[in-house]
Amino acid sequence: MKKPNIVILGAGYGGLTTTVKLQKKLGANDAQITLVNKHDYHYEATWLHEVAAGTISPDHARFAIKDVVDLSKVNFVQDTVVSIQPDDNKVILEDGELEYDYLVVALGFEAATFGIPGLSENAFMINNINSSRLLREHIDYNFAMYNNEIEKKQERLNIVVGGGGFTGIEFLGELANRIPELCKEYDIDRDKVRIINVEGAPTILPGFDPQLVEYTLNSLEARGVEFKVGALLKGCTPEGIVIEKDGEQEEIPTFTTVWAAGVRANSLVEQSGLEHNRGKVEVKPDLRAPSHENVFVVGDCALIWNKETERPYPPTAQIAMQEAEVCAHNLATIVKGGDELESFEFNNMGTVASLGHNDAMGVVFGDKKIFGWSASIMKKVIDNRSLFKIGGIGLVLKKGKFNIF
Ligand code: FAD
Ligand code: NAD
Repeated sequence: MKKPNIVILGAGYGGLTTTVKLQKKLGANDAQITLVNKHDYHYEATWLHEVAAGTISPDHARFAIKDVVDLSKVNFVQDTVVSIQPDDNKVILEDGELEYDYLVVALGFEAATFGIPGLSENAFMINNINSSRLLREHIDYNFAMYNNEIEKKQERLNIVVGGGGFTGIEFLGELANRIPELCKEYDIDRDKVRIINVEGAPTILPGFDPQLVEYTLNSLEARGVEFKVGALLKGCTPEGIVIEKDGEQEEIPTFTTVWAAGVRANSLVEQSGLEHNRGKVEVKPDLRAPSHENVFVVGDCALIWNKETERPYPPTAQIAMQEAEVCAHNLATIVKGGDELESFEFNNMGTVASLGHNDAMGVVFGDKKIFGWSASIMKKVIDNRSLFKIGGIGLVLKKGKFNIF
């Protein structure tokens, strides 16, 4: 009998976890497994704010796919997915096409710019290794230029971060630590640099624990971050942004606008013909697409409702990895002829956000609030745990975070 063809799109948290679990569950004769990814490496998307601020190198945040995937069991294809055609069981790549019996869509997130004029052209995004490295280089370049022009341009030293959700806040924490180093390196007075956060809601981290929000504000303000809350970013040019607060508009001159105000699923999902809800596939409890039984969707491309809050679960790496385990289990069950598929149940391990390498805050073990040094250690444990789940102790020793001060 012909071996079923399983094709996995994307080697982020969802796709790579599905692959490494599946390679353990299935023998070479059970199925042909193909993993497709744009690059030959996986990047830790949850560390990209550090790459973008320049507090870790791009190489620290990525590792070769061949280091964790068994290439004797998995066919790895480095290529870019151009379109998913579920009615024909086909995926079109830049350099060819693939047919499948079972598909796993794990193509992750992209920035949501909500049609705000000039954003996609002029703002910097923290989306992947290349966009994060570009932001780091751009900030360095502007600091380097500042003292090399007769007429000093304040726009070079104003950095605006749109969005005070977890991504914006984590980036601000890293940036606030990096700016004094940059000032020293380029002979710039720290007081000349402005770091401005623009958040549309009345508070940063809307909906999060108020005490921890307060802690975050204090930690970041003490390091020179200015907050403009209740202010919507309305437009962006290469020279600045426009914000609106209480019906009044204000222009802030800057050469560096960072857009961290929301994500959406990879737009290939919306274009695919899979039934979707605002670009995400509202998967069945077993993680299959309702319109196509042989298509699984995990991670930021999938939508699952939290019955307690009656809202969708947020797009996180934590959920992507848990979904991937269920997806791998269900695929292995189907391939081996079983029909009892597992349903996804979210096991909330908590939320911890870094505020630089030596500060953090969050909620763990149900409702325990942590902040400061202990939270920072916990954040590193969480980062190392994720490496462990994908690549075992070897990957932790190679890429793990062990600096505790
Ligand atoms: P991704 O991790 O986005 O992976 C998608 C993969 O698909 C990538 O390898 C990409 O290269 C590949 N790909 C995309 N398009 C194509 C294409 N056309 N062809 C081929 N390959 C393609 N979540 C947490 O739980 N905890 C955190 O602390 C946390 N911190 C974060 C910090 C930052 C700065 C950001 C931006 C996000 C953070 N998140 C965090 C959210 C988390 O990173 C995402 O929810 C998670 O990455 C989603 O995993 P995924 O597998 O769905 O997609
Ligand atoms: P988000 O949607 O969580 O936050 C975006 C923020 O931008 C919101 O506070 C929103 O009010 C604000 N905003 C939207 N439009 C705006 C505008 N025009 N002007 C000003 N502000 C505007 O997005 P995110 O922070 O990128 O996070 C994406 C996902 O990744 C979330 O699920 C988050 O939980 C997860 N994440 C988790 C961690 C962590 O657990 N440590 C870290 C980063 C991201």
